Amino acid sequence: MLSEIQETIVKSFQVLQTTQLVKDKYENILEHLDSGIILFDRNGMLTFINVQMARLLGVSRSSIRGCSLTQIIRHSQMGRFNKRKILRIYKETIIYKKRYHELSDENGRYWLLTVTYGDQMDGDYLISAKDVSDHKQIEQTAYQNDKLAMLGKISASIAHEIRNPLTAIRGFIQLLRPHLLQLGKDEYARIILMEIDRANDIICEFLNSSKPSAPQTITVPVLPLLKEVVLLTESEALLKGCEIVLHEGQSALNISVDVKQIKQVILNIIKNALDAISDLGHYHIGIINLEVKEDLDNAYIHISDNGKGMDHNTLARLFDPFFTTKLSGTGLGLSVSYRIIKNHGGFISVNSTAGEGTEFIISLPKV
Ligand code: ADP
Ligand code: MG
Repeated sequence: MLSEIQETIVKSFQVLQTTQLVKDKYENILEHLDSGIILFDRNGMLTFINVQMARLLGVSRSSIRGCSLTQIIRHSQMGRFNKRKILRIYKETIIYKKRYHELSDENGRYWLLTVTYGDQMDGDYLISAKDVSDHKQIEQTAYQNDKLAMLGKISASIAHEIRNPLTAIRGFIQLLRPHLLQLGKDEYARIILMEIDRANDIICEFLNSSKPSAPQTITVPVLPLLKEVVLLTESEALLKGCEIVLHEGQSALNISVDVKQIKQVILNIIKNALDAISDLGHYHIGIINLEVKEDLDNAYIHISDNGKGMDHNTLARLFDPFFTTKLSGTGLGLSVSYRIIKNHGGFISVNSTAGEGTEFIISLPKV
């Protein structure tokens, strides 16, 4: 009889041990999940927080366990930024009863918060935070592409409509020009013609940006291509007292590109750099550096200038069609360039500091 009882106790103990082991195992998994997890009981007391969530809130786990929401908000380790964020999450999820809430952290990463409560949680509140930055980036790229596609459709239809009357006006002004000359008003004709040509240029750029032309790629060495573009811009640079330096590091690197389109991109970026430099006045010694780098998969063309640089607002809208900060700008150069590089399977990135300068990096897949 006694041995039977002993056996039952030992068995129960073993079951308990196994259950504890399984519990520890799952708790360990939860603790080290790459999503953040925090659990509150029905009285609003924190009963579980994993490593990632504690990192997000910027507090140690031991100091926060067992705290109520009010105590967490008063926590001495927690910064003001996080406190405000927690209050906001509380408002959105508990008061307004939203199940999902999105926020960004100090490092610019996006997190999707999901709140689970109700019968299935036995009165507990489970909040999980998942890093959705990559997803966000894809979404933003898709949005940018959508905008460009829409621009393409609209532009194709209106550009022709505007171009035809412009051609007619240009013709008639030329016919009128001798009469205006007699009246001593040739200057008027000159200005009208100049403005019509400018309008035509804008339409041409507009049409170019709307054409979803697939690149006609050939394999070329990258340095001679850059040299040709530098040659095209050198006289303008000279006029603006600016030097363009081509560093001949990766001299043998080949890329497979539509030469005309890539030249247009580099030209756009150099012209912008020249504008940014000349905005700083005649006494500023401007310099534009072009350099080619590579890693296993990509070639990188770095174009940097010591021009006026950009503020956050400009940086955020840089590639938007028609975004310009210049009086006579079209705001199309970079949106077209963005599209061309995308069509080549590459991407353009930008670093810029207001007052110091800008660096564009064009990345293209290697042959
Ligand atoms: P646009 O040159 O006609 O204005 P872009 O699309 O080429 O149009 O450029 C958009 C805007 O981006 C410019 O108006 C300018 O404010 C900013 N920008 C582009 N490149 C630079 C640069 N290197 N330095 C400073 N600002 C720049
Ligand atoms: Mg431009």
